[in-house]
Amino acid sequence: MMRVGHGFDAHRLVKGRRLVLGGVDVPCERGLLGHSDADALAHALSDALLGAAALGDLGGRFPDSDARWKDADSMTLLAACAREVRAAGFTIANVDATIVLERPKLAPHVAAMRARVAQALTLDVGAVSVKAKTSEGMGYTGDGSGIAVHAVVLLETA
Ligand code: MG
Repeated sequence: MMRVGHGFDAHRLVKGRRLVLGGVDVPCERGLLGHSDADALAHALSDALLGAAALGDLGGRFPDSDARWKDADSMTLLAACAREVRAAGFTIANVDATIVLERPKLAPHVAAMRARVAQALTLDVGAVSVKAKTSEGMGYTGDGSGIAVHAVVLLETA
């Protein structure tokens, strides 16, 4: 049997923060604001994984009110979600994500993001897709206020 999961995340772009997406530091004069490292790609993928298994969400596991997760490496949280999904009897077939932002251009970093995500999920890199899109200047992603990420995951029962 197959199960699909969807995840979404958005964070505000501010000065004085690192821009971390999929565990990759992207050179940028602004970064994502959040309690953890604010890695919106890791967060959306985590929610997609948990959603596919009907195991709740990332915020329920690692609440931003908990000091333990301050400046947390979100890729370790993503890896923990993958372990939980597998422990519940599922195999991860593939993941696909779209990062919505106007700039910086992510094309030079996509291969590294795919490799880091594949490593965190212990998947072949061929099962991990990361894409970047602009929103053509519209809305909070278009005016540079923030970055949004959409993700889907397909699980199979082991
Ligand atoms: Mg988040």
